[in-house]
Amino acid sequence: MGNNKYKLLIVEDDRNIASFVQTILEANGYQVLTAERCGQGMMVFASHNPDLVVLDLGLPDMDGEEFIRQIRAVSTVPIIVLSARSEERDKVSALDLGANDYITKPFGTEELLARVRAALRVGRHTMQTTTLDGRFQVADLCIDYDRRQVSVGGKPVHLTQTEYNILALLSQHTGKVMTYTAIIREIWGCMDNGSIKKLQVNMANIRKKLGCRPGDNRYVTNELGVGYRMLDE
Ligand code: CA
Repeated sequence: MGNNKYKLLIVEDDRNIASFVQTILEANGYQVLTAERCGQGMMVFASHNPDLVVLDLGLPDMDGEEFIRQIRAVSTVPIIVLSARSEERDKVSALDLGANDYITKPFGTEELLARVRAALRVGRHTMQTTTLDGRFQVADLCIDYDRRQVSVGGKPVHLTQTEYNILALLSQHTGKVMTYTAIIREIWGCMDNGSIKKLQVNMANIRKKLGCRPGDNRYVTNELGVGYRMLDE
């Protein structure tokens, strides 16, 4: 009994948040381990080998980024970072250091569970959104990877090569935020001064072609100052 549960480690010094997260996760069938400091977190990590780590960036004994570095030196375990709204730069550098995702405080039950499911999915290298014949399907959006064709509600959408490459890339990381830097590296190979602007212009065109009005977050959300996320539901 209980041996097939996912084991999740929460590293968070704020007891209210830690117990909120623990309660939600346990109620949803996860086994939860907790630590209040990085040092303790590393020990629990080493002895229990959890399937996922939920990490607060502001911990008393060590920088959360240093913790990510130490974990990444030994493991590819999914890491979800908890951060305050004001810590945009920290979120980006945590993601670029190898964290899989972030949640901004304050957050709700559904958001936490959606992020955990997506992160565990990345860890398992499976994609629930990919159909048996290799197509991506979410709501009425369909991407046919073999033909490099996109359709919405069965109607073809005409994207440029670059627009298609961006959309396909995001779809391959569904549910997970991708930073501007990560997208730019994949699409153009390198980063220069105009890269983010170029990406934003392409994204605006993609949204327009998919039939999204400004502020309409169907399919892809814009994570301000961080990057983009393809929605999986
Ligand atoms: Ca804290």
